[in-house]
Amino acid sequence: MTMLARQPVSEPAGPIPAPPTAADGALSGTSIFNAMSVDVEDYFQVQAFADTIDRADWDHLPCRVERNVDRLLEIFGEAGVKATFFTLGWIAERYPALIRRIVASGHELASHGWNHTRADSQDEGAFRADIRRTKKFLEDVGGVEVVGYRAATFSIGPKNYWAFGVLAEEGYRYSSSLYPIRHDLYGDTAASRVPFHPGKGPLLEVPMTTVLWFGRNFPCSGGGYFRLLPYALSKLNMRRVNRNEHRPCIFYFHPWEIDPEQPRQHNIDAKTRFRHYTNLGRMEGRLKRLLKDFPWGRMDRVFLGT
Ligand SMILES: [Zn+2]
Repeated sequence: MTMLARQPVSEPAGPIPAPPTAADGALSGTSIFNAMSVDVEDYFQVQAFADTIDRADWDHLPCRVERNVDRLLEIFGEAGVKATFFTLGWIAERYPALIRRIVASGHELASHGWNHTRADSQDEGAFRADIRRTKKFLEDVGGVEVVGYRAATFSIGPKNYWAFGVLAEEGYRYSSSLYPIRHDLYGDTAASRVPFHPGKGPLLEVPMTTVLWFGRNFPCSGGGYFRLLPYALSKLNMRRVNRNEHRPCIFYFHPWEIDPEQPRQHNIDAKTRFRHYTNLGRMEGRLKRLLKDFPWGRMDRVFLGT
C-alpha cells in the first residue's frame, strides 16, 4: 500500500473511552492549541532507507540536520510558536550546541531513542537501555528534564505494549508512539484514537491524530501525507478534529523535509523515492501557512498541562 492509498480503518473494538478531560488533551471551545512536533533525525536515518544505508556509514555522510533545525528555529521564532523536538541521542551527541539552542528558544526537548532503532525490534532490556541512555544524555546536554518519548517509526503496537511500563519506570510521563492507521511501515488499527493511560501509572500515551470521515479513520498528523496531499485537505481534516471532537491535533514532520538540497539516494525503489522527495520545495511555505492557520503549543503543555 502506498501512503496515498489512505485505507480506511475501523474504530477500535472494545470499551468506549472515558469522556475526555483537560488533562488528556481534550478541550472545549474553539481556540484549541494543537501540538507541533519535530522528529530530529537526518535524511539518511529514516526507516525507508534502513535497507540501503547502513548505520555504520552514518558518520561518513554529510549531515544536514543542524542547518535544517536552525532554519526551523527561525521559522518557529517568527511565528511565535513553541514546539516539541523528539531528538535522537545520536544527533545530540554530535550537535550539543544545537540541542542547547532548541532549549534556549523555549521548545520542549524530548526523546526519539538513541539511533532510530525500532522499539518492536528490541527486547525489554535493549529497549530500557536505549530510552534510559537517551533521556540521560539529552538531559545532561539540554539541562532540562525530558519527559516525552516517541518511538522510531511509531513502533509500539500490540506485540510490545510492555514498552509503556518500561517508559513509566524510566521516568517518562508521556509517549506519542501509536498511530491508529494501517501503513506498511507502522500502525495499529486497533489502537485508541484518543489519549489514554496504558498502565496503572500516570504515563499517558497520546496517539497520532486521525480524523473520522463517515465513521472511518484517516491519518491527520502531518508527516508525508502533509507534503503529498493538498494543503487545503490537511487543513480541513485538522479543523474537523478540533471542531467535531474538541480535541487537539498532533502535527509532526522532520527537519530534512524543508531541505530540497539534501543529497539524493539512488538505490531506492520508486515508492520510497516518491514519498521522500515529493514537494520538499513546498514544505517550508506550507509549514508557515500552517503555523498561521492554527494555534500551536508544545506536547507537554497541550497534553500534560505543564
Ligand atoms: Zn523518526
